[in-house]
Amino acid sequence: MKEQEFAVIGLGRFGGSVCRELVDLGMEVMAIDSDEDRVNLFSNIATHAVIADSTDETVLKSLGIRNFDHVIVAIGDDIKASILTTVILKELGVKNVTAKAQDEYHGKVLEKIGADHIVHPERDMGIRIANKIVSHSILDYLELSDEYSIVEIRTNTKIAGKTIVKLNIRAKYGINIVAIKRGNEVIASPQADDIIKEDDILIIIGADENIDKFERWLG
Ligand code: ATP
Repeated sequence: MKEQEFAVIGLGRFGGSVCRELVDLGMEVMAIDSDEDRVNLFSNIATHAVIADSTDETVLKSLGIRNFDHVIVAIGDDIKASILTTVILKELGVKNVTAKAQDEYHGKVLEKIGADHIVHPERDMGIRIANKIVSHSILDYLELSDEYSIVEIRTNTKIAGKTIVKLNIRAKYGINIVAIKRGNEVIASPQADDIIKEDDILIIIGADENIDKFERWLG
């Protein structure tokens, strides 16, 4: 598959994080910011890092922006610049524009002017954290030390039907399934080709931060 080409405009905490992750996922990324220092921080990370004011249509044209598969507008504080940039990108024919909204009002305007995807990272993260605090997927835990725990996690449809080797959670999250509770049965030391069933409870051991990552992935 051809690598997709992305451009990220605005290299604050959000835009910077999107840029890094896209690069980690093997994508070609052009990082754009009007601030030279920010651009310099990304010169060794992004495929190209460019100092440019995205509210200048001529500049965006000269960067060949319409040839990118996806452009992410990660300008938050300067709402005027975010809106103007999005309008220009859509007028130039960029197919996929994802724009970061500061609040609901900003989001509504972005929607009206044709942004294809609108993200509210701060709002969504707040919702996610609140949900996590009242999480039901961790049924029980045993603290082994300040950093390590054993937890019981309820299986969901994301993992049911898969083998342990297919899930590959040891490599992906650095945690181990030490046992599976299936009704009254306990499968100690499950094997790589054991299939996880829908109502299974997984007994997992690992560093708290890794368990946390796995739980977030599990949803
Ligand atoms: P975050 O919450 O993601 O950390 P931030 O508060 O650090 O955002 P913002 O003010 O939202 O930063 O802007 C993100 C980046 O967008 C900044 O690095 C800023 O220089 C850049 N930026 C703002 N206006 C423009 C513009 N017209 N053209 C290009 N880059 C811009």
